Amino acid sequence: MSEATIAIDGPAGTGKSSVSRGLARSIGARYLDTGAMYRIVTLAVLRAGVDPADADAVADLAATVDLSVGFDPDEDRSYLAGEDVSAEIRGDAVTRAVSAVSAVPAVRARLVQRQRELADGPGSVVVEGRDIGTVVLPDADVKIFLTASAEERARRRNDQNVAGGAPSDYDGVLADVRRRDHLDSTRAVSPLRAADDAIVVDSSDMTELGVVEHLRQLVEQRAGATR
Ligand code: C5P
Repeated sequence: MSEATIAIDGPAGTGKSSVSRGLARSIGARYLDTGAMYRIVTLAVLRAGVDPADADAVADLAATVDLSVGFDPDEDRSYLAGEDVSAEIRGDAVTRAVSAVSAVPAVRARLVQRQRELADGPGSVVVEGRDIGTVVLPDADVKIFLTASAEERARRRNDQNVAGGAPSDYDGVLADVRRRDHLDSTRAVSPLRAADDAIVVDSSDMTELGVVEHLRQLVEQRAGATR
């Protein structure tokens, strides 16, 4: 198998994480979740009692955070100073604060450098995030920009909320999806956009398995990276 570096970017709610994991599994690649790294820094900020909106204090703290992540698509683990924080970084407190923390340029500079080092390991790697094809790995062999309509993403998220016991609120969820799309695509540092050479895949009318298979074929065509 030839080795390939695969960048997968796109907004939240497209099934990006499941699809990235599925692709890594199917081609025997390592999986790097860069969102988890921003979440670990955010957890450190919250635990230190630092205001996520205080960019200077966040930058100072980010310079010393001891974080590590695993590469196994079936069991990717996240650590803060050696403590397994995989569950805690998915909680509401971190999710609410992560956008502010990830907008701090010094945080991005540090994590981008770290992501490049981690991606540069053995074998193929699938790197998932928002700015992988544009900033982190502009020379990636295959760049995918995964999208889905705002309505479809809102529908999926509302379904998840309902499954978790929350009341159905499709209109509210759709408004939130649109608000976050706007924030992410207009922020000053690394706005969310497809790289010029990215393949845009719209998953609105596809199943998760269908998307994984489609991406596997794209990778095979572009990089010959299959087992
Ligand atoms: O992918 P996930 O939702 O876990 O990412 C959490 C947050 O981290 C995103 O909402 C975004 O603000 C930030 N992020 C980023 N750049 C990346 C990955 C994530 O700014 N490459």
